[in-house]
Amino acid sequence: MSYKRNTMCVQGGYEPKNGEARVVPICQSTTYKYDSSETVGKLFDLEEDGFFYTRIGNPTVDCVEKKIAMLEGGVGAMCTSSGQAASLISILNICEAGDHMISTAAIYGGTFNLFSVTLKKFGIDVTFVDTEISEEDLQKEVKENTKLIFSETLSNPSLVVCDIEKFARIAHKNDIPLIIDNTFATPMLCRPFEYGADIVVHSTSKYLDGHATALGGVIVDSGNFPWDNGKFPGLSTPDESYHGMVYTKDCGKAAYITKARVQLMRDLGSTPSPQNAFYLNLGLETLHLRMERHTQNAMAVAKWLENNEQVEWVNYPGLSGNRYHDLANKYMPSGTSGVISFGVKGGRDAAMKFMDSLKLAAIVVHVADARTGVLHPASTTHRQLSDEQLVAAGVEPNMVRMSIGIEDVEDILEDLEQALAQAK
Ligand SMILES: *Cc1c(COP(=O)(O)O)cnc(C)c1O
Repeated sequence: MSYKRNTMCVQGGYEPKNGEARVVPICQSTTYKYDSSETVGKLFDLEEDGFFYTRIGNPTVDCVEKKIAMLEGGVGAMCTSSGQAASLISILNICEAGDHMISTAAIYGGTFNLFSVTLKKFGIDVTFVDTEISEEDLQKEVKENTKLIFSETLSNPSLVVCDIEKFARIAHKNDIPLIIDNTFATPMLCRPFEYGADIVVHSTSKYLDGHATALGGVIVDSGNFPWDNGKFPGLSTPDESYHGMVYTKDCGKAAYITKARVQLMRDLGSTPSPQNAFYLNLGLETLHLRMERHTQNAMAVAKWLENNEQVEWVNYPGLSGNRYHDLANKYMPSGTSGVISFGVKGGRDAAMKFMDSLKLAAIVVHVADARTGVLHPASTTHRQLSDEQLVAAGVEPNMVRMSIGIEDVEDILEDLEQALAQAK
């Protein structure tokens, strides 16, 4: 039976049999017992479904993976210990030393570092492009060894909306996949596979968990990309490190996500704990309700800020005057999540004074949880970027990033009012 997304949030991924636990149980075991060596052999060969070692798979984690795959409309998902690990593995699964990839520049600061510093050391070269680049110019950046294009649905923290179909068209024209980080939108507001994305990644530490309790990430495979087109021998020729398996032949539509698990998770080991997967699942059970409230509250706050004389500018794609409003309407018709950024008049100092005066909203290096929080990106998450890189990432010195929680919006507005008065 196929359920609506709201129902998938609550019940997807776990179907207890007669007498079994109603709630996804925490299976806190690294290992699993079998009666015969032959069965274990078959598990290793992926001929039978089952678990043999928690680094590769665990029943609690498996339920969450199934739920997220369902929500995104993919054929499979793999949870990781953090969002960073998900981004890294999503790329290493199809890129190696000597390869090249393209990414939009307006992305999460941690992802920018991963791409510009660490991937470079791995021998993977990254070209950064403007999210608004024309198809013609994007085509010019594609090289013989380009293996993928990467972007964020709604960028953190600059809130640029990606024209997913544009990037998918150029990617597919060149026989390469599009990977989309869907952390800010969540599958409740946008499902990138519907617009041609091939792989989706998330930091589940944000809205999917929603309570700021468990760090995590996930990679979701649409199952749509033809990996046997000659550009991805890692998927279409025998993997000698895994019994000569040819992922495209032996795993069908799940080739990419299977390789990520049995090769890269096996070798890199950025496995989530069953306990954290349990927390993530609790969060997912209310994702649909929370996203609705985050979005409503953020819209009200954005409108209020827009009419406040101490606020220089407000960036929220849900606002009708926003540069990305049309794209937002197309890709996120039911709202653009709870994150807003705005500039406080008086520059960097006024922004910091305002933030220090907030009472209900806390200063946190986090976004997208139930509690309202604020952050000054220029002096925190993006402090390692040069001024030029800051501008490219869409970060102004007086910019406050505010993650609107699910409290009563009147209390949030009252707090903003008193803190702005202090910053005068
Ligand atoms: C937070 C974040 C990440 C990194 O996730 P972690 O769970 O902190 O490792 C990646 N992408 C986006 C868009 C994020 O907001």
